Amino acid sequence: MHMEKIDVVERESFRDHPATVDAKGKRNWVYAQKPKGRWYSLRSYISWGFFLLFFSMPFVSMNGQPFFLFNIPAARFILFGKIFWPQDFFIFGLTMVTFIIFVVLFTAAFGRLFCGWVCPQTIFMEMLFRKVEYLIEGDAAQQKLLAKAPWTGKKIARKSAKHGAFYLLAFIIANTFLAYIIGVRSLGKIITEPVTEHIGGLFSIMGFSAVFYGVYAYFREQVCTTICPYGRLQGVLLDRNSMVVAYDYKRGEPRGKFTKKKETAPAGDCIDCFQCVKVCPTGIDIRNGTQMECVGCTACIDACNHMMEKTGRQPDLIRYASENGISAHEPLRYTLRMKLYTGLLTLLVVILSALLLSRKDVDATVMRAPGMLFQERGADSLSNLYVIKIANKTVHSVPLQVRLEGQPGQVQIIGGTVIPVKREDEGAGNFFVVLPRRVLSGRKTPIRLGLYEGGKKIDEIRTNFLGPVPGNGD
Ligand code: SF4
Ligand code: SF4
Repeated sequence: MHMEKIDVVERESFRDHPATVDAKGKRNWVYAQKPKGRWYSLRSYISWGFFLLFFSMPFVSMNGQPFFLFNIPAARFILFGKIFWPQDFFIFGLTMVTFIIFVVLFTAAFGRLFCGWVCPQTIFMEMLFRKVEYLIEGDAAQQKLLAKAPWTGKKIARKSAKHGAFYLLAFIIANTFLAYIIGVRSLGKIITEPVTEHIGGLFSIMGFSAVFYGVYAYFREQVCTTICPYGRLQGVLLDRNSMVVAYDYKRGEPRGKFTKKKETAPAGDCIDCFQCVKVCPTGIDIRNGTQMECVGCTACIDACNHMMEKTGRQPDLIRYASENGISAHEPLRYTLRMKLYTGLLTLLVVILSALLLSRKDVDATVMRAPGMLFQERGADSLSNLYVIKIANKTVHSVPLQVRLEGQPGQVQIIGGTVIPVKREDEGAGNFFVVLPRRVLSGRKTPIRLGLYEGGKKIDEIRTNFLGPVPGNGD
């Protein structure tokens, strides 16, 4: 009984402090061994696609405008070539709500798939900076030796080369990042024009470069294990049915060193080689179970599969599985719950896409001029004066026409035949609607106004036409 208690305490001791902090509170630097295998290759291919998109997207434009722009200081956003204004705030609100629901459902079903496969932090760290580090300092063992070695010329040269390369990459990422915020044209001006004209821009580039350099040269896995709020939420988002990178303890335990003698070989498949720990970029031992520090990078799956193959055992001792799947010894299934979540997520994305696609490029509001009732227009007609306010979200100016829809009468725009609205600007105008008395249906007659640009209908607005109170002799 006592021995059992000690065993449990030892087994649970990994919970006492984060894997990257030692008992004295000092950082345990993670020297992750380079993974090799099917999953790592697949992640490398995906990362190339990511890099291609990330570095090329700011240069893609549509109708002379960037395809994507997130100019937060100027509250100007362009998504898929469409300009979004502060008036489109509800779409952003809905996007945020959809995003949060998406994150919750996706994580509940598929665990940290996002972190391991598409999170920019993981991709830049593992697929760019870490690879450069392997190239300059060698694999984990050589890196460790170099770190312990005295500061000889060789060490200084290697460290300088690594940090020089890191800063250069951080500088390129910072410039690209800034291009997403201010656009490539503005970035080009900062780079080519005299520094004195772009002090703010220069500080932004240097600031972003310093942050990216600091993150990838020093902070590294700490971003995922201590800073990222999504990582911190794993404890509440995951359950026993979530798909995670998991160690099959039923098959692996009792673990023991590999031996060819059958009689002394341990019953479990885990040969306690620690390869899964050595490749882990967050420094954890996945055999302790699902942990918040695990970013689902699959490196331990590859490492363990390699060992299984070398020792003639079945692969996938570590694999994508749910806790329930491991305890019941079942392969991962696309469960009804996952199907439901996927259906719901698809529905949300469809609704949001429909909203984005149906969003109007020209937004108009029409109100009757305050304090005015109606005006007599000869013996048989009346008029109402209206005020129109227009937001032109396109990159071309819009000469707006207003027409009455589906009923006799006419629209008279004050000061011309169209209301001109400049590109990416707001405009306003006044117009009369003149209706024959015979079409009035009481004090308020509903009317429809068509908004046209060059003969093409772009919107329709419903409002009321105010007439005399029936029976009062008017
Ligand atoms: S435990 Fe495995 S999947 Fe999780 S971070 Fe470490 S190596 Fe990646
Ligand atoms: S790599 Fe596989 S066999 Fe080796 S310690 Fe990890 S789980 Fe056990």
